[in-house]
Amino acid sequence: MNTGKQDQTFMLEALQLSKQALPNCRPNPPVGCVLVKDQQIISAGFTQKPGAMHAEAQALAELQLPLIDVCAYVTLEPCSFVGRTPACAQSLIDSKVSRVVIAILDPDPRNNGRGLAMLEAAGIEVKLGVCTSQVQSFLSPYLISATVY
Ligand SMILES: [Zn+2]
Repeated sequence: MNTGKQDQTFMLEALQLSKQALPNCRPNPPVGCVLVKDQQIISAGFTQKPGAMHAEAQALAELQLPLIDVCAYVTLEPCSFVGRTPACAQSLIDSKVSRVVIAILDPDPRNNGRGLAMLEAAGIEVKLGVCTSQVQSFLSPYLISATVY
């Protein structure tokens, strides 16, 4: 199986799913997340209403931890700061996923590369830039620095 091709397929699944976050997630960005093991989606999530679960948290919620040999596909860089909900980067680290694939970085000044750095510092393999243009064209109108989380 070609990993690059597989990454695109699952990222597009996450993008498709993220569209379901609208309009309830506003003013937070509509993000999608799928968790994949042995080339199968085992769980998925998208941004819930403000103060409720982010995409990553929803995808993780129903699963028995730790996750072994699981790859997470997220359309936006996982948040690294504790707002109204726990930081998703930390939740992914705690879940023990082995790999995280991210389409675009979060321009929110509280994040902006910090989420990615946290994952890498925890020894997780991170791949950035899968399906960037497709995700960007859907997501960028919702990316503002004043997200409330
Ligand atoms: Zn988050």
